[in-house]
Amino acid sequence: MARPRRASPVPPPGGGTRGPAAPVPRSRWLGLLLAGVVGSAAAQYRGPLFDAHLHYNVEACGHAAAATTTTECPHPLPDVLERLQRNGVRAIVANSRPNDGTRALAQAGEQARAAGVAVVPFVRLYRDRADYNNWFRDPSILDMVNTELARGTPAGPYRGLGEFHLYDSGNADGPVARQLMALADRKDLAILAHVDDVAVEKLMGHTPSKGQSTRLIWAHTGIGGSSVARVDALFARFPRLHGELSYRPGLTCGEGTLCPEWRALLLKYPDRFLIGSDTWVNQRWLQYDGLMQGYRAWLGTLPPEVAKKIAWDNGAALFGLTEPSPR
Ligand SMILES: [Zn+2]
Repeated sequence: MARPRRASPVPPPGGGTRGPAAPVPRSRWLGLLLAGVVGSAAAQYRGPLFDAHLHYNVEACGHAAAATTTTECPHPLPDVLERLQRNGVRAIVANSRPNDGTRALAQAGEQARAAGVAVVPFVRLYRDRADYNNWFRDPSILDMVNTELARGTPAGPYRGLGEFHLYDSGNADGPVARQLMALADRKDLAILAHVDDVAVEKLMGHTPSKGQSTRLIWAHTGIGGSSVARVDALFARFPRLHGELSYRPGLTCGEGTLCPEWRALLLKYPDRFLIGSDTWVNQRWLQYDGLMQGYRAWLGTLPPEVAKKIAWDNGAALFGLTEPSPR
């Protein structure tokens, strides 16, 4: 997500369902379950989750400033890890503006292990909000990316680039966008891209493999609402294109229920979808429990092996993670 300087209120939480604005107290959650509001307790998916779209931005915690006050750091590392742990999130694609937040997560080492969370670090292309609308033609972004890649993280090498945004698909042809896509193929880096369907085609076209070996995670699977038929056609054409499902319009029809055409698409491509939180503003951290509960509700309506793939296996396979031990 993260269209900067947007005047409209924060959209409803991911998974297309409207979740609570804050973690649901255990007693209230039980009440909702009993009332059948969020799907039956028996139907909930209960396995591990891979959050394929997580930001730990400067507003959540100003790591560069070594902030300690709650104003500068409303979501310190222990708070974030606690939210992941209590929701059964066992791995995250971590990226942040600037990259200090990702480095803090990657540096967490023992703390992250204790919480049972594997960190898959991505290089964000943004030093600040001004970069959102210029990265695709700014050579200094390429320099920054190469510096970060050379530096690596305490959790190992960066595994991908993004999230980046293109609000105009024509900018997918920008010189830096082209160079970064070629770099991703060369270095086997995944891409996390908030773009439309036309930009997916353009970006794939800029890689040496013409998108045949490119691991592109399509943030929101088209937040503008690309049709199911169009998503299907792109998946058929690009074998390693994956769809991340936060904010996806039309995904759910009511709490815990997948809309029929999306259910059919998930069943057609069970190896290609991922879930994500998209904590692009701090409000999303406050909603984190509700977001994950929303996913667990509709995942529970799918055949168990398909639910497990979308919840965990597909992300784990993208980055070679092993099955987490039960907690
Ligand atoms: Zn995002």
